[in-house]
Amino acid sequence: MKVERLSRSRPWRQEKLPLLSILLVLSLAWSQGGEAAPLRVVEDVRYHSAPGSTRVVIELDRGGDYKVGRLRQPARLYVDLLHARLPRDWGHRSVAIGDGRVRRLRIAQYQRDQVRVVLDLQGKNAYRVFTLTQPYRVVIDLSAPNGHRPDVPRRTIVIDPGHGGKDPGAIGPGGLEEKTVVLAVAKALRRLIEEAMPNTRVILTRERDVYVPLEERARIANAHQADLFVSIHVNASDSGEARGIETWYLSFAANERAKRIAARENRLAQTSLSELEIILRDLRETDRINRSALLAGMTHTALLNHLGRHYSGIVDRGVDGAPFVVLLHTAMPSILVELSFISHPQEARRLRSPSYQRALAEGIFHGLQRYLQTAVALAP
Ligand SMILES: [Zn+2]
Repeated sequence: MKVERLSRSRPWRQEKLPLLSILLVLSLAWSQGGEAAPLRVVEDVRYHSAPGSTRVVIELDRGGDYKVGRLRQPARLYVDLLHARLPRDWGHRSVAIGDGRVRRLRIAQYQRDQVRVVLDLQGKNAYRVFTLTQPYRVVIDLSAPNGHRPDVPRRTIVIDPGHGGKDPGAIGPGGLEEKTVVLAVAKALRRLIEEAMPNTRVILTRERDVYVPLEERARIANAHQADLFVSIHVNASDSGEARGIETWYLSFAANERAKRIAARENRLAQTSLSELEIILRDLRETDRINRSALLAGMTHTALLNHLGRHYSGIVDRGVDGAPFVVLLHTAMPSILVELSFISHPQEARRLRSPSYQRALAEGIFHGLQRYLQTAVALAP
């Protein structure tokens, strides 16, 4: 399976836009003044391609009408989003899918107040179009007429946005708080998993800005018999120069850096570090730890690859083990991702932006997919 996004991460100046699109953007800019109801805005377009089915998801800032149509020769399916516009920094966008059902996906400002999404079709497939809410999304599903969809056993993934409530986590320039960023990324990740894996239940350890003790987070995952546990954090350093991505799994602290970061994330834990070390020495959990290390490696690689395609200066700070309390008490493969440094000026700016938050979620999502495919293959 694959998820790809027609993203907004590059400014439109760098793209080879046809003159028409530029004129359209300009005319849109002029026509915005004095309108009663502002046009809805397309926030994101992405697709998930799986064996037997393709799903295209169009996210808008709010709900409204759309029209579906089909054209022959060449075969196309289109959805017109009424009273809507593309963001100013998008031209028209086009991405090749070529999965046997959709050759290409295109999106453009079709009329002043209409956005058209076109799927160039391959083969004979059934389709349905429906909406999801929070956020508002128009979903186009294509599948083989006999509904071939491989049977995937139902599974549960717990996503753990770090900190919350009285515990803001690390704080960056302008008062940007770790707890806010990680909640946004966790919600974006849940959306991606739910869209692409209908047989997967996703549980967040917190939905809002509330304080949840570390031990309670692990208890939530165990109570739901989760298959995977992913804790999401943002890094910080005193110097403000450190940047990059780190992924952690549970182990006895091997070095000073690992001890330092574990101490910071464990700050409000009820389990003391010495207790933790005793439990860890005793641990007969090699299989869980090995699987956690595998999950950490795959997630880390996928995250770096994905971000590297959209952003410059993405630094690989490696995968390592450390004694994190939140990873100790869980019973399933568990990792902790430190997304970027909130103390680094450029990374803080990125962490604040919804498109970087989405890219982070997408990278983690790719890693989870890779792991789940491998884990199914490894299972006895
Ligand atoms: Zn944290």
